[in-house]
Amino acid sequence: MKAAVLYKDQTHLRIEDVPIPELKPGDVRVNIKCCGVCGSDIHMTIHKQVRLRHYPTILGHEASGVVTEVGSDVKKFKKGDRVVVCSGLGCGKCRQCLKGRHNLCPEINVLGAEMNGAYAEQITIEERHLYHLPDQIPFDQGAILADAVSTPYHALKFVGKIEPGEVVAVYGCGGLGIHAVTLARALGASKVIALDVDEGALDNAGKYKADEMIDLRRVRNSGKTLQELTGGVDLMLDFSGHYSNFEDAMRAMNPGGRMVMAGIGKHPFKLTFPFMVINKQISVLGSLGCDSRAIPELIDLYTSGRLDLSTSITSHHPLEDVNQCLENLYYRKGNPIRFIITPNGKIGAQ
Ligand SMILES: [Zn+2]
Ligand SMILES: [Zn+2]
Repeated sequence: MKAAVLYKDQTHLRIEDVPIPELKPGDVRVNIKCCGVCGSDIHMTIHKQVRLRHYPTILGHEASGVVTEVGSDVKKFKKGDRVVVCSGLGCGKCRQCLKGRHNLCPEINVLGAEMNGAYAEQITIEERHLYHLPDQIPFDQGAILADAVSTPYHALKFVGKIEPGEVVAVYGCGGLGIHAVTLARALGASKVIALDVDEGALDNAGKYKADEMIDLRRVRNSGKTLQELTGGVDLMLDFSGHYSNFEDAMRAMNPGGRMVMAGIGKHPFKLTFPFMVINKQISVLGSLGCDSRAIPELIDLYTSGRLDLSTSITSHHPLEDVNQCLENLYYRKGNPIRFIITPNGKIGAQ
């Protein structure tokens, strides 16, 4: 089969013919229809910030497809089923995995990083990592449920514990943060404020009906602006990885507010007035990936008509275009939310 493979010390993926992995008991073989191109793929390729455990590795971790074959002992899936592939793969045996909290598994593997991923015509994966995708969700929008949508959903709902009527501020409106904007809306936020340094990202936030868009290059202290615009923020999420945002936003936080760190950056986290954390009883929390609750709940939100992700699909591309897509995402060419790779050509009816 054809796959996009990353070799050690390389910044680009090689399109190669690779063997189709064998189907063990409990495994499902999936014909990949769509795989989203994610910013974290850039960290592994163009940026070289993240080193993988082993090379060569097939990247791609936001996938949907159709089951083509099932191994013995597979119970929940059959040939022809439409599926979403989970991007964080827990061990399945530890205390956290047994509770469905696989993103807390100490031995978690990420698809398309620690394990071969879905920039490939097919993947072979244990059935517990798959979710049924209803017919009414197109493959492209289904694929991005695996990370771009489920990661901010987890941060908002299970870590940030959003409540209807709350004011939400989202720093960093790229591929993940932009979905925090639309999801905060779907989960009943009274006001959603989007903050970014990129005009295109703020445009996208406008398309997803943020109440206000703040260009961080034009304000000296975003906390002051947030305070003026909202009168106080209940939930702040950062997908930018610029930790100075926490210090700025702190002054706009309401008592009992939650601040969720979901963007990974390399600058130190500093608080000049830590007393504010105590005084306002603010929780500063971390969120990474999602657990087994997110994708089924998102599918319910979608099928009940409260979530539409069509704005997120920028364009579709053959596997051979993957490096170009990564570069365009890096330089934000065409103001992308999600480029979609279709390793088996056109998506088609199924
Ligand atoms: Zn990702
Ligand atoms: Zn585990």
